[in-house]
Amino acid sequence: ERLLDIFGEKSCIQANSINGHRVIRIARVLSMASMSVKALILFKVLDHDGDKYVSIEEIKQFYEIYLDEFKFPCDSSRRQELIDTLLQAFGMNDANRQMNFDKFYKILQEKPNLLESLQLMNIPNNDDQIDKIKWKAWRKNNKYHIIIILLYILTTIALDISVIIELVVKEQIRNFWLILAHIAGFSIKLNFVLSIVLMLKHCMVLIRARRWLRRFLPVDDHIDAHRYVGVALAVYSVVHSLAHVINYATNTKDYSFFQSMFTSVRQQGWVNGSAAITSNILLVLFSLMIIFSLQCIRKRTGFYMVFHYTHLLFWPIFVLLIIHSRDFWKWTCAPMFLYMCEKIYLLKRYLPKNGRTHLKSLRIEDKNTISFNINRPEHFNFNVGDYVYICFPRIVSHQWHPFTISSCPENNDIIRFHMMKKKNWTRKVYDYFVKEWERQKEHKESFMEQFTSVTTDTCIPEVNHPYVMDSTESIWIEGPYSSSTSYMFNCEHVVLIGAGIGITPYASALECLMHHFRERQTICKQCHHVSYKQEAIQYRKLKKVDVIWVNRNVENFSWFLQLFNEFENEQSTYLESLRAIGISPKRFIDFHFYYTNLKSNNQVMIRNVPIDLATTAYGDVLNKDILTKMRTKTILGRPQWSLLFAKFKAEHQRTSVFFTGQPAMGDDIKRWCDQYQFLYYHEPYY
Ligand SMILES: Cc1cc2nc3c(=O)[nH]c(=O)nc-3n(C[C@H](O)[C@H](O)[C@H](O)COP(=O)(O)OP(=O)(O)OC[C@H]3O[C@@H](n4cnc5c(N)ncnc54)[C@H](O)[C@@H]3O)c2cc1C
Repeated sequence: ERLLDIFGEKSCIQANSINGHRVIRIARVLSMASMSVKALILFKVLDHDGDKYVSIEEIKQFYEIYLDEFKFPCDSSRRQELIDTLLQAFGMNDANRQMNFDKFYKILQEKPNLLESLQLMNIPNNDDQIDKIKWKAWRKNNKYHIIIILLYILTTIALDISVIIELVVKEQIRNFWLILAHIAGFSIKLNFVLSIVLMLKHCMVLIRARRWLRRFLPVDDHIDAHRYVGVALAVYSVVHSLAHVINYATNTKDYSFFQSMFTSVRQQGWVNGSAAITSNILLVLFSLMIIFSLQCIRKRTGFYMVFHYTHLLFWPIFVLLIIHSRDFWKWTCAPMFLYMCEKIYLLKRYLPKNGRTHLKSLRIEDKNTISFNINRPEHFNFNVGDYVYICFPRIVSHQWHPFTISSCPENNDIIRFHMMKKKNWTRKVYDYFVKEWERQKEHKESFMEQFTSVTTDTCIPEVNHPYVMDSTESIWIEGPYSSSTSYMFNCEHVVLIGAGIGITPYASALECLMHHFRERQTICKQCHHVSYKQEAIQYRKLKKVDVIWVNRNVENFSWFLQLFNEFENEQSTYLESLRAIGISPKRFIDFHFYYTNLKSNNQVMIRNVPIDLATTAYGDVLNKDILTKMRTKTILGRPQWSLLFAKFKAEHQRTSVFFTGQPAMGDDIKRWCDQYQFLYYHEPYY
């Protein structure tokens, strides 16, 4: 309303509507205006009575309503603190209860951070959407994918040609439908083999560990490739079946259509000429498997287990295919041998030194998340970003779910992972431990000694959380399986982007990095001066890490605050130690936190500016963020990839981006990576 008032649109307030032209006019003025004009607009917004002075009362009144409307995620005392700090930043107190525009603007000019907030006063822009990716840029980032796809196409064509030569030239067959059925049949064999090879998870781990090999083989996309091969299998199965059906229907001279379809009179296939009978069963089983693998069904709540069980049809399908086709076993013996080896190797999860273990403690982080500390089995080795399948045999005995290890490999005592409550299994586990906690709470007299409520001093609204609790619940772990996160140590500049719980692999990596830093730290016994072994740090390949964490819930920030805080402090000590010996320091890590539950800042005109101004002032005065208490300021709204990526491009020669989160966000980031020719790696969506 105040903005409309400033622009002489009072009539719109009374009419409670505004036409598009007027909105565009205001938006244009706001976006094109110089800093001083933007400052004047903000000043006028704050100057409620229009007396050309902004008073303490006006600022307080404005912000109280504004923070409320904005649903700023802090309680009233914290909001009051925010307003008081803003007043402090503008030098307003009992002796100085109001300021005019000149003073307001002078203070903004003196504090560039505050002035920068005015930049947000902008027209809504679609700057963050890329319409067209240049083919050249895309090709450069995906060249090995293209080579693999070409290889696949060429192999399929070669196979088809060899079948045609065999049937048409050597066996003189002229029946088109029979030839088509054979071509599709051979393609089924090829794709069946590929579908097994692509799910050899331990082989993938071995390939990932070899840098030269993973450069050529896009192992990170093996699950996607498995899906595409599954689609190809479905298509070839339909073509194969239809071609046979048409062939039987058009060749009824010796056998009736019914006989050909449902009996073994034609004596086709390997065992007892049962190709026709087995093919009918195969078609039903294949259909079930493929239907329940469709993302739209699989992603539905509770349907994952249906997907899992229908995928076990793989075994009867495999046996039937051997009976069905004469040389199928020749195609599959090698991959099936490897597959069986992996299955046997997996049995180690039932050994106490590998997979059977117990919880040590757990932490109920908030109303959705628990972190578990597990006693690390003696022979359990892992790398950063690895994930394991876990099973709580006493809670749900038959279900294994994947979780990323969020602790670092250097920690020999425990492995940690964070579990966010979704639906079935995670809900059961969460509720089980909350009940356990409540049960123990009731039965323990010395409650305060048993349960430690950790005060975080942040804006996290859940005052009851987090709770730390000891537990000896038995847990089985299978794995570890690798992910692309481990590549980051071979990169120069990495950008780690986590959305919500997607930050877990990067938490492990950061803990590991901090461990490396601390290993190189020496503290003088006499003067307690801290120094670092420079060579080891300066000559390492990884020079800079940018961590981007995007959260919809403010309480999520608490999961890894302690770790990130420690890293910030470690970096400060490191930079200080460099300055002390006359080396100009370069930052090693930068955090970028985004809280997105407020309206996105590229869809509004002035709405984010006052809040940004207040939180920036808070950071400037108290040297900590209002939401997280870290030195890094939490940005309200979504990341503006165009600005961020342009900055990275200007600062670094080679950048690698790692992302874990929603696929839609990943697609967006991938497109920006293609645009800027950054390498892009992603983890499966949680
Ligand atoms: C490699 C990987 C690492 C992961 N790491 C974490 C982590 O660190 N923290 C975290 O909170 N979550 C993580 N997840 C997600 C977690 O595994 C699922 O949230 C959990 O399995 C959901 O089970 P549910 O029955 O409670 O939910 P549902 O509502 O039944 O399922 C929710 C989603 O999880 C998928 N899902 C369900 N069961 C399984 C299963 N057994 N295996 C694979 N996917 C399944 C479903 O397809 C669905 O999309 C990870 C997932 C993967 C694939």
